[in-house]
Amino acid sequence: MRLTLTLNDSQRLRKLALVAVLGVTVAAFWSVVTSVVAADVPEKGAALAADNPFAAPSPLLLHAPAFDKIRVDHFLPTFMFGMKLQLAEMNAIASQAGDPTFENTIVAMERSGALLTRVDNVFSNLTSAEKNEALQRIETELSPLKAAHSDNILLNRKLFQRVEKLWQNEESIKYSEEQAEVLKQRYESFLRAGARLSDREQGRIRSLNEQLSKLETKFEENLLAIAKERAVVVDTAKELDGLSADEIAAAAAAAKARGLDGKYLLQISNTTRVPVLTSLNNRALRQRVWEASAYRGLGRDGEIDNRGLVLEIAQLRAERAKVLGYENHAAYKLQNQMAKTPAAARKMLTNLVPGVVERVKQEAHALEAMIKECHESHELAPWDWEYYAEKVRKARFDIDEAAVRPYFELDSVLKNGVFFTMNKLYGISFRERKDLPVYHADVRVFDVFDRDGSQLGLFYADYFQRDTKRGGAWMSSFVDQSKLLHEKPVIVNCLNIPRPAAGEPALISFDNVTTLFHEMGHALHGMFSDVTYPTVAGTATPRDFVEFPSTFEEDWAIQPEILANYARHYQTGEQIPKALLDKAVSAKKFNKGFETLEYLAAALLDLEWHSLTSEQIPADVEKFEAESLQKVGASHPAVPPRYRTAYFAHIWSGGYSSSYYAYLWSETLAADAFAHMIAKGGCTPENGNLFRKEILSRGSSRDPMVSYKAFRGLEPTVDALLIRRGLK
Ligand SMILES: [Zn+2]
Repeated sequence: MRLTLTLNDSQRLRKLALVAVLGVTVAAFWSVVTSVVAADVPEKGAALAADNPFAAPSPLLLHAPAFDKIRVDHFLPTFMFGMKLQLAEMNAIASQAGDPTFENTIVAMERSGALLTRVDNVFSNLTSAEKNEALQRIETELSPLKAAHSDNILLNRKLFQRVEKLWQNEESIKYSEEQAEVLKQRYESFLRAGARLSDREQGRIRSLNEQLSKLETKFEENLLAIAKERAVVVDTAKELDGLSADEIAAAAAAAKARGLDGKYLLQISNTTRVPVLTSLNNRALRQRVWEASAYRGLGRDGEIDNRGLVLEIAQLRAERAKVLGYENHAAYKLQNQMAKTPAAARKMLTNLVPGVVERVKQEAHALEAMIKECHESHELAPWDWEYYAEKVRKARFDIDEAAVRPYFELDSVLKNGVFFTMNKLYGISFRERKDLPVYHADVRVFDVFDRDGSQLGLFYADYFQRDTKRGGAWMSSFVDQSKLLHEKPVIVNCLNIPRPAAGEPALISFDNVTTLFHEMGHALHGMFSDVTYPTVAGTATPRDFVEFPSTFEEDWAIQPEILANYARHYQTGEQIPKALLDKAVSAKKFNKGFETLEYLAAALLDLEWHSLTSEQIPADVEKFEAESLQKVGASHPAVPPRYRTAYFAHIWSGGYSSSYYAYLWSETLAADAFAHMIAKGGCTPENGNLFRKEILSRGSSRDPMVSYKAFRGLEPTVDALLIRRGLK
């Protein structure tokens, strides 16, 4: 159940099963396959209906989910029984008579929870990609139960004692590098859950976890409802001047779907800025749309208010950190990340602020000049930024999205771009198949074959936007790779590409081209995983490492030899003209001051919220936000944070609390690695093989910096990052 969402328009997050908040270091205990102690479990099999498709591993290829047999009413009983089963497995491990061994304790734990993993991998993607009210109700009901289940395992003293004993004797036993890492992670997860605390303290932790999981789920539910309530209704097409005919048709269709025939509905996105702001000529409407987005969740005009939830979550997290012996929530969260401390993360971000603010000033001057040029006299407001930036972009690069899109037809980008690159680099190939069941008609399934023709895994592609899908883009897995469990990966990528009108080709934006490459990077991280134990498989890495492989693959999209292969006019087959291409590429670096500052503001805001002790939690959310941004130097009237506090899903419900910095941390690795690969010959099998061997195949089976240096020979620097962002 790894969910990795992209920054591109959204929440990149991975669902952490265990901690019931969505989070990173997954897999651990919901791991896998029928346990060694299954025989000791009394009513095994008896509690699930005979037709329950989760009861046994799916009979389909590579245990692909039997979506044609899965019904909503299967989930809850399967979860309940799956948790019960795993608890029985864990209790059996804990109460064995003999001394602990790696095999009878760690390996047995790795094998436990097969049923739970099976159901959760399907459930967690469905609740993101194809949600309905019934699923949402189940999710709400489950969330505190999952938190309690996690505690039932990690606060089991007898189980902890076995793991601790192995850990203390670690030196005397010859473990493989991977085994040592699995043991360390298992041991640390007990400590981090509070295994050493008194009964009273453990009771408090349990209660905090349960409350937090409810509040976090509530926050997420609210966001969906808020996005609906704050969609902007427009009465006439005239007001939509500037939007393309397709966008207007989509707005009309969206209104119709809500029973507002003859009107137009503009949806807000996850982020503060909304894509239509780029092209709406009507300034008053731009302001309405921007305000609908930026002031959401504040309870204005009797609408949903998220502020109380935020304060309560921050308060409970701060208290939990204290009970666990950490200074604050950020210190707790970062202890097992690559950054290790909030200070290191904050330093990386704040070092960039002055240079970026300087760049933003230059960009703002250019926009103000453009406002004058358009014979307008107003100030540069946040709802003007994207609009005038687009005008400057057109003037400076003489390019507009509409001219570029015909060269980016979805299928061509996918096959002649993404698959082509992965073949050149890693020797893998993709073949679509139509016989496996899917959860929505949009979903496509591909066999993935390795260089030698053997099957590596299955790849599901779910690319189009729909009402039942959450925003953003992500990767998730239905089956995780593990040699111990004889499992090969079954991976899905979800995006939110606007659906073309019936019968029309999907001509996609350059941003979405990049996102396709990005998500494939996550997919390959899962696909190339070559480890024994599920705890360390694929994308189960620290959060500040997990975006590295995905961000790394993005940059192939603009390599000339790759572009020449996929960027062809959908009608004429003509290659994208070089002049247009050069402009499109340099235009990518335009507005990077704005983009970087809005990100830095959000990332620093996250660290500010989570560096508070419970005594320091403020009463006024908006005041704290404004003061924090001022304090870190990231306050700019026309550049609000990418996410403001009241709708910052990553940090309140998405497992990225204290970790939004992780994108830039990962991007530093990605830029450095990519520049290195280009210097060493670019898209070659030699380069691909080395990257696969040292980075993609390892999961978290060794320290991430060790993996990085094995590939790169050195630790990364920010130089390539600054160039990548056009800041140097
Ligand atoms: Zn990502």
